[in-house]
Amino acid sequence: VSFAHFGFDEKLLGAIANAKYTEPTDIQKQTIPIALMGHDIIGIAKTGSGKTAAYVWPMLTHISKQPNGEALPKNDDDGGCGGGPIALVLSPTRELAIQIYNDTKPFAKALGFKTTVIYGGASKYEQVRELQTKNPDILVATPSRLIDMIKSKATTLGRITFLVLDEADQMLNLGFENQVLSICNSIRPDRQTLLFSATFPRKIERLAHIVTCSGNDGDS
Ligand code: AMP
Repeated sequence: VSFAHFGFDEKLLGAIANAKYTEPTDIQKQTIPIALMGHDIIGIAKTGSGKTAAYVWPMLTHISKQPNGEALPKNDDDGGCGGGPIALVLSPTRELAIQIYNDTKPFAKALGFKTTVIYGGASKYEQVRELQTKNPDILVATPSRLIDMIKSKATTLGRITFLVLDEADQMLNLGFENQVLSICNSIRPDRQTLLFSATFPRKIERLAHIVTCSGNDGDS
């Protein structure tokens, strides 16, 4: 399997070539074709497996297939934050959020999409400003800061149709279950959901069931 087999956009293939990746990793081979079909995915993968690209590339392909704003109505009550992002990646920690942002940016840029990262422990002001001036297509966020930003009307989940939960086990270990569920419940149920976790205990199995069984085929 080569990258060309996935049927990616030429610009994305160019960015992958620029990254000097020669072939897809196992998790990429397993998840990308299924993600590109629009199905939900539960992926058991550790850091270092190439899991970020395994969801980032299908996410970018998803965004590029959206009819220009048509299926994605702008809200009148969005507090001036434009339409809001189309794709959301939830991360348990600031460090991982920044890493995901850095891993996403070159590929998103190649397709002309904008990415923003928000996380706790840093000034809200800069993040609010960036959300409002940049109006990103992709938002990488830690759960509490995201909820804070929604309450402040700095962003909205109204246009999200592609949702990723990265390191879902860490998200539960750090006590974010209620925040994660509240965020997932605020996103339209016909979204595509990809959940990645390094481990798969019963509580992750339950969370995965709740967040992925919400409307589409949900074959995981
Ligand atoms: P991750 O598991 O997403 O943290 O990725 C681990 C590292 O592998 C990152 O530095 C990626 O840039 C790199 N990577 C991702 N996909 C590939 C690939 N197909 N070939 C080589 N390296 C890759």
